[in-house]
Amino acid sequence: MGDSYVNGGLLIMARCEVCDKGIQTGHRISITRSQVSRRANRVWRSNIKKVQIVEKNGAVRPAKVCTRCLRSNKVTRSV
Ligand SMILES: [Zn+2]
Repeated sequence: MGDSYVNGGLLIMARCEVCDKGIQTGHRISITRSQVSRRANRVWRSNIKKVQIVEKNGAVRPAKVCTRCLRSNKVTRSV
């Protein structure tokens, strides 16, 4: 259930149009060799919101923006 669903499109959808950073993946690898098998895949999925943003020329358009960009005022949100 989980994997195919995630690969199917959620990953692509979860991409911020501002910073263009969608998914960040990585491994948490233990230093101890004997624990290599415990290595776990980690996925950080950006928290994407679909919001109306105001572009520099004043045009309003819907965009997918991560909450980090929203918070740091990288976009002007239309109300
Ligand atoms: Zn962003």
